[in-house]
Amino acid sequence: MVEKLAIHGGPKVKATPFGSGKRFGEAELKELREAIEQDTLFYHYGQKVKQFLQKFNEMYGVKYSVATSSGTAAIHVALGAAGVTAGDEVITSPITDQGTVIGILYQNAIPVFADVLPNTYNLDPASVEACITERTKAIVVVHLAGNPCDMDAIMTIARKYGLKVIEDCAQSYLSMYKGKLVGTFGDYGCFSTNDFKHISTGDGGMVTVNSGDDEDYAVVHAFADKNYQRFDHIVARDIHHIAPNYRMTELQGAVGIAQLDKLPWICEKRRDYGTMLIDGLTGIPGVYPPQITDGGTSSFWFFLFRLDMKMLNGTVDEFVAALNAEGISSVRGYIPQPVYMQPLFQKKEAYPGTHYPFSLSEVSYEEGICPEAERILKSSVRFGISEFYTESDIEDIIASIRKVAAYFMTAGVTKS
Ligand SMILES: *Cc1c(COP(=O)(O)O)cnc(C)c1O
Repeated sequence: MVEKLAIHGGPKVKATPFGSGKRFGEAELKELREAIEQDTLFYHYGQKVKQFLQKFNEMYGVKYSVATSSGTAAIHVALGAAGVTAGDEVITSPITDQGTVIGILYQNAIPVFADVLPNTYNLDPASVEACITERTKAIVVVHLAGNPCDMDAIMTIARKYGLKVIEDCAQSYLSMYKGKLVGTFGDYGCFSTNDFKHISTGDGGMVTVNSGDDEDYAVVHAFADKNYQRFDHIVARDIHHIAPNYRMTELQGAVGIAQLDKLPWICEKRRDYGTMLIDGLTGIPGVYPPQITDGGTSSFWFFLFRLDMKMLNGTVDEFVAALNAEGISSVRGYIPQPVYMQPLFQKKEAYPGTHYPFSLSEVSYEEGICPEAERILKSSVRFGISEFYTESDIEDIIASIRKVAAYFMTAGVTKS
């Protein structure tokens, strides 16, 4: 006997509110007060951005990193420092935030989308290698939803073809791959502190300089600050190329210091809850939980799982509606379609009235270029995880999915 779904008037599984909590408190206020009392909010004169980066560097075991105004900015800075320029191709994932491709296009480089793996939703190294041309300059890997990419395979390809590797870690704080933190494998690791990420400074970002090299650091630092070279009391304006102003303010740095203290706990909670969810969803007919990359751990920014459309009697949208009615707020997919399906790519018009820089390359954005990514976005369900949830919240999520899946598996439901 299948239980009556809440959407059909049955009792909701999630009858109690989810655990909640405050992200900001006295620790952030203390840092902000100190920032104000400095009587400067400029990163180069104050101490807060410096302290924030020092703490972040210690946590990540890197010598240098640079603060930016957003995660998008961090990726643009890394691309600029990597020497990505007009006409270069940059291989990346079609399942990501817009912030991954903005910097590529602002450098007048051409995004090339490699396909992803069906169960990790991360770049498929074989597809990455197949996308390489004479124009390829860099790979921007995205550790989606906290799940690390297969960095051994990616780095092997990068070395073989002499490509730069930039890691988009906006969703993957403190995720590990084979005992090492993601963000420290490639040339640069890019992070976001926008208000939706594991930690928030309102907006902001960081770029790790993984070479630890002084000159490399100087290039990254300058690229986030108009290509001015600010060191100690000297400001050199030896400008050879354009660079944006993506500076972080002392207010963001101050909040970031306090937020970093909370980061290990936040990631640990999310890792535990994500692991519980994978265990709890494993074996439910028609439901495929995500697979964490071999040798990796995830800090689960969100939770995305797939449905087997052949086994289901109904649509993914109907499944999502039923899950919402049970009290689990969820949506289909992550983004509606792969990034390349946006009009920007379909019309090859990043800048109004011109096909530049696409006109420099043979790249194709036709539907079907990344079939796995297209299938994932059509057949997946996403819901948020919070570090403030309780174990019983996670049990309720599992029970809700189990209940809805059982209903959609029954032959009595008409396939629409
Ligand atoms: C959030 C995010 C970005 C962009 O970060 P912003 O701080 O919003 O600019 C880039 N890539 C991924 C994967 C993200 O999730």
